[in-house]
Amino acid sequence: MPFIITDPCIETKDTACVDVCPVDCIHPRKDEPEFAQATILYIHPEECIDCGACVPACPVAAIYESIDATPSSQKDLIEANAVYRNGDPEAMAKAEAIVQEHIASHPELMAIPAAERQAAHARL
Ligand code: SF4
Ligand code: SF4
Repeated sequence: MPFIITDPCIETKDTACVDVCPVDCIHPRKDEPEFAQATILYIHPEECIDCGACVPACPVAAIYESIDATPSSQKDLIEANAVYRNGDPEAMAKAEAIVQEHIASHPELMAIPAAERQAAHARL
């Protein structure tokens, strides 16, 4: 089961998870050209080895340990993580479209500061 990055990453995107991932499956990294345009980072579902190192590294608790653990308000972002491919503009456009749709459909979550957003996942 892959780990999933969710919406507290929006407006945070500090790449702390990238620094601890042992298999370099979180993209885009800061040194990749896609980084400036990406709204969040994405975990490659097949390359992730489920080590769990990224979860405590994330300052805003944006990463869930599995599809099942991902709250209902964040389920749409499972697909965004799944379709993103670094170096593939079409895949990035698909992933970013999902994220933008998530932002548009969850104004109540986006109104909460990123650092407090994860706490609201269970109730919103
Ligand atoms: S669980 Fe491990 S392998 Fe998967 S994204 Fe996080 S740090 Fe990388
Ligand atoms: S550590 Fe969390 S907020 Fe930072 S880039 Fe990774 S998922 Fe996003």
